Amino acid sequence: NTRSKTLFDAAQQVIPGGVNSPARAFGPVGGDPLFIVKGEGARIVDADGKSYIDFVGSWGPLILGHAHPEIVAAVNAVVAEGTSFGAPTEIEVKMAQLVTEIVPSVEMVRMVNSGTEATMSAIRLARGHTGRDKIVKFEGCWHGHADSFLIQAGSSALTMGAPSSPGVTPGTAADSITVPFNDLEAVEKAVVENRDKIAAVIVEPVAGNMGVIPPAPDFLQGLRDVTAEMGIVLIFDEVITGFRVSPGGAQELYGVTPDLTTLGKIIGGGLPVGAFGGKREIMSDISPLGKMVSQAGTLSGNPLAMTAGYETLKRLQVPGVYDALEAKAQALETALGLKYQANRVGSIMTLFFTEAPVTSFEAANACDQDLFARYFREMVNRGIYLAPSQFEAAFVSLAHSDADIDATIKANYEALKACIN
Ligand code: PMP
Repeated sequence: NTRSKTLFDAAQQVIPGGVNSPARAFGPVGGDPLFIVKGEGARIVDADGKSYIDFVGSWGPLILGHAHPEIVAAVNAVVAEGTSFGAPTEIEVKMAQLVTEIVPSVEMVRMVNSGTEATMSAIRLARGHTGRDKIVKFEGCWHGHADSFLIQAGSSALTMGAPSSPGVTPGTAADSITVPFNDLEAVEKAVVENRDKIAAVIVEPVAGNMGVIPPAPDFLQGLRDVTAEMGIVLIFDEVITGFRVSPGGAQELYGVTPDLTTLGKIIGGGLPVGAFGGKREIMSDISPLGKMVSQAGTLSGNPLAMTAGYETLKRLQVPGVYDALEAKAQALETALGLKYQANRVGSIMTLFFTEAPVTSFEAANACDQDLFARYFREMVNRGIYLAPSQFEAAFVSLAHSDADIDATIKANYEALKACIN
């Protein structure tokens, strides 16, 4: 990896840690990140010319694969007409109409530029709408890097959080309550102890950021019931699961409708996009309407990103698309999950290096991370590019061919053999 190494050495001089997002660093697995020069379909090519079957897919957006010819053509056509106007355009209306058709909870939607902006704006809206300050979130869920989410459970976990990053103030932390994922009792306790103080409960309906962990039976419905009873805004953060685990996301798959939904990744088709939407009554409190909850963005809804996203979403409406994804991912799950735990929902999957079921953050943390690191290196050496951390999802795309899946299964077998012996 001579060229990647040279680039990484240069990068470290001028970019903190040599990366523009920490998940790209190979910290948890050792070694240096690969620099990527191009992608096509299910494959990426690194700076040294080596080709890989890619299961990162830019961390989720590329459900159609890299450089899909029709998406590229659509974006090229738009870019020649101007990339951003800061004034309304027709494609924004078409995008909003499509999203409100597809995602059950969404009656109105606003576009932003990242998942972080979506979740940050959604909790501000929930606070503005309810007139309450606190939020409840879950251990191991990631909602981007807004201050309110960079909070861990404090010593008195149910009442007060502690900053999980320098730069987050204790004041902010005091308004975020962190409870264990899949633990409905803990939520009920927190909600009762903080009666009339909680604006929102925010959850990844399928956890994707501690590795894939599905919701326990009735967990999501339980959240729906308790939030409805207490006048709390329920937010599903579907930045990963939206348009991924079913056309309408986890809310469609599990039949539970939140008040607000945050979206990202696929909705931008590989360009920088996020969105938040939900009940008309709540969304109507955003500036320039209702209570005038502040929210804005210079590049929000720009034609380039809207085109890539819209064209991607349209191609996901074709009948049979999700069945095809399911079949590919299921073949992987069956082959990979023989010894260790393969958690999968639709086309997102994590192979946890443990023989015990993984249903909580605690269980995820009990995995053999050294073994994962060895496995990761063995897979990369065999041309399979995975996220460089045990606590991430593998993303299967429509571009993965049967041959790609077979090659991955073969590499997995050899890699496991190499690291267990
Ligand atoms: N929510 C979830 C569930 C995510 O997985 C992510 C990003 N991985 C975010 C929010 C933040 O999105 P972004 O990185 O686009 O800010």
